[in-house]
Amino acid sequence: MLTSVCVPCYNEEQNIEAFYDRVSALREKLRSKTDFEFIFVNDGSKDNTLSLLRELAARDRDCKYISFSRNFGKEAAMLAGLEASKGDRVVVIDADLQDPPELIGDMLELMETGGYDRIATRRKDRKGEPVIRSFFARMFYKVINKISDTKIVDGARDFSMMSRRMTDAVLSLKERTRFTKGIFEWPGYKTKWLEFENNARNGGATKWSFLKLLSYSMEGIVSFSHFPLVISSVIGVLLFLISLLFIVIIIIRKLIFGDPVSGWPSLVCIILMVSGLQQLSLGIIGSYLSRVFVEVKERPLYLIMESELHDGGNING
Ligand code: UDP
Ligand code: MG
Repeated sequence: MLTSVCVPCYNEEQNIEAFYDRVSALREKLRSKTDFEFIFVNDGSKDNTLSLLRELAARDRDCKYISFSRNFGKEAAMLAGLEASKGDRVVVIDADLQDPPELIGDMLELMETGGYDRIATRRKDRKGEPVIRSFFARMFYKVINKISDTKIVDGARDFSMMSRRMTDAVLSLKERTRFTKGIFEWPGYKTKWLEFENNARNGGATKWSFLKLLSYSMEGIVSFSHFPLVISSVIGVLLFLISLLFIVIIIIRKLIFGDPVSGWPSLVCIILMVSGLQQLSLGIIGSYLSRVFVEVKERPLYLIMESELHDGGNING
């Protein structure tokens, strides 16, 4: 059996060696059960990551790498890893050792005994995270699970093991805006969830700013739910009903009290409110339209500058 381990790397020079040590120890331990291939994807790092990967690939045939022309994001890096993987089992794991590689042993075991197609992980709690961030994260999961058919699990990490069948299913989703948390859920194959404590990064800093997280969650909502579009229609219908009510009130008032000419302030309020809501609806439609725009352009999700996969078919730019 072959297990492919896909490792997206962006500015991880401080972690590659430590990561390699941990996984090669694991490889020794599991030697009787499975062979390994480690596919590192250099996502346009600006530090020494690429030369470290070159070195690894030169001294260890199980280590392979793909290097992008620039930073395309973790989603693209994971995709490239999955596409290059040949294993019967495919693991996605971060390079910063926040995901304990030793779990891979348990995952293999569980796959064999439980007949699962996917062993996924989530962290136990949000300890050590800024309070505001946890709050918004929790809100996000509440909202998206109300409005999406695909269940998005709170605290789910990308660290997971998939069967070949599951990997192929994930790769068959060709969409360009890849919200991985949803894409891995979408096939609906039998999944086992493991929990682990949140570990601190081995070295370096996280690449997620609050704004990045916010736009990522918007992406999730637009990719996996049509509900926002429904909202804008509902707002339209509601406003129409309210305006009917107002017409009736105004007619009655006219008949009973005559016509005291007032209402400039209320008019201003109404105009502001209605145009605001129209703008909101336009914005909602716009976010879906921009997704369509991205999809129809059919741009590749990443460009490979250089690779070493030890299979003779490498691109070296
Ligand atoms: N990563 C990547 N491309 C990016 C950002 C991150 O390949 O544009 C990789 C990064 O090297 C790491 C993993 O994705 O292996 C998770 O990144 P990070 O630790 O910054 O995220 P966090 O653990 O804070 O969610
Ligand atoms: Mg991390």
